[in-house]
Amino acid sequence: RVRVRYAPSPTGRLHVGGVRTALFNWLFARKHGGVFILRIEDTDLERSTEESVEQLKRSMRWIGLDWDEGPDVGGPHAPYRQTERLELYRRAARRLLESGAAYYDFATPEELTEFRRRARAEGRPPVYTGGPYRDMDPEEALRRVRTGEPHTVRFKTPREGRTVFEDIIRGPVGFDNATIEDFVLMKSTGTPTYNFAAAVDDAEMEITHVIRGDDHISNTPRQILIHRALGHELPAFAHVPQVLGPDRKKLSKRHGAASVEDFAEQGILPEALFNYLALLGAGYAADEEIFTPEELARRFRLEKVSGNPAVFDEQKLLAINAVYIRRKSPEELAMLAAPMLSERGVAEAGELERDMPRLVRIMALLRERLQRTTDIPEAVGYFYGGKLDYEREQFEKQFGKEFVRENLPELYERLKALPEWTADAIEECVRGLAAEKEKGARHLIHPLRFATTGRTVSAGLFETMELIGRERCLLRIADVLE
Ligand code: GLU
Repeated sequence: RVRVRYAPSPTGRLHVGGVRTALFNWLFARKHGGVFILRIEDTDLERSTEESVEQLKRSMRWIGLDWDEGPDVGGPHAPYRQTERLELYRRAARRLLESGAAYYDFATPEELTEFRRRARAEGRPPVYTGGPYRDMDPEEALRRVRTGEPHTVRFKTPREGRTVFEDIIRGPVGFDNATIEDFVLMKSTGTPTYNFAAAVDDAEMEITHVIRGDDHISNTPRQILIHRALGHELPAFAHVPQVLGPDRKKLSKRHGAASVEDFAEQGILPEALFNYLALLGAGYAADEEIFTPEELARRFRLEKVSGNPAVFDEQKLLAINAVYIRRKSPEELAMLAAPMLSERGVAEAGELERDMPRLVRIMALLRERLQRTTDIPEAVGYFYGGKLDYEREQFEKQFGKEFVRENLPELYERLKALPEWTADAIEECVRGLAAEKEKGARHLIHPLRFATTGRTVSAGLFETMELIGRERCLLRIADVLE
């Protein structure tokens, strides 16, 4: 049975590159009826924060990545936070020390720095192989440990041969063991390194496929060496490329948005971000776009994921976002809009509450025109409030003094006298007057639109005016006439 994990280090906001990796794990698990695990890799005590753990979980839930095992939900391999699993790593370290696959290293930080400096000066690669400690008598080493001498535990990397694996995305990958130093398993603080904890946990949690960012590719041979030394069966590996900005640098806040929260704050719907990131570099045809998570899971093929970096395309994300906004019911959009409108001071909370049916109709009218949910306050603004703050001169410049004097007063009177304030009645009134004046209706529609909405483009004018309301429309027309 497929078991995969997403194993973030809680050191900041959840980056879209990370969430895309999480998503590929999720899709792979769902496709194969497998298990998706969330594991918190928080052994870097200086950089990990509780706030990031919460933020991470929130972002995952927001975008719809539910985990079958992990924090809050538990599971047969609990706990799922590495700082709560330290005993496991210590036990594994003892096994490796006993079998001779690892050793105690007493080199001081200064000695290590000196080693690297000398290697560089002599033009050798700084591959540390434990100096006198690699082959020290274990009894002697243990005695020094017992006296409390600071030490790390290092892996005794074979000096010959190659460590190779078949990456599901990139094909065969291999590293000469001679280029891999005797890496640290347990730090002098008694906590495990990332490589050690990840390998121990992947085995203990019975992970079948390790799908992770390709920034970890050089860690994989180390983890394979650990697995072998502990007698573990190897998982399969797939390294997912990074997400880059249009300038081919790693996507960051400089590009506008980079974390799940940034996108949420900028009016992207979770369904849209999910859909977009699942397509990004996943090997679908360009015209295949809108899919539910279930459909995406059914079609997902890990071996199809591109081995090249994915370039983030904001326009495409926005196009997909617009589709998901359009798919929401006007009622849902109104619920989303109401708090935004009161927060931005577009309308009073009380007024919005009293007149939800009108907001629902406004959203039905506008939903085709929104790219981001954060466009709502700006888009909806003129349906609320009184006079608009454009300059009268602006209006006259655009439509001519003559027009204002000749037509608007009459239009004002007729609109005021309409027995019913409906889109149909308004349309009949406007077209009627245009016909009497032997003018095309657009000669009235454009200025009327500007007078009542303050804009040169809007949804259908007559319906818009109906929804703005008679009183407000007349007030705004009068304002132009003043
Ligand atoms: N904690 C690592 C990271 O956040 C996870 C790498 C892995 O999946 O093994 O990059």
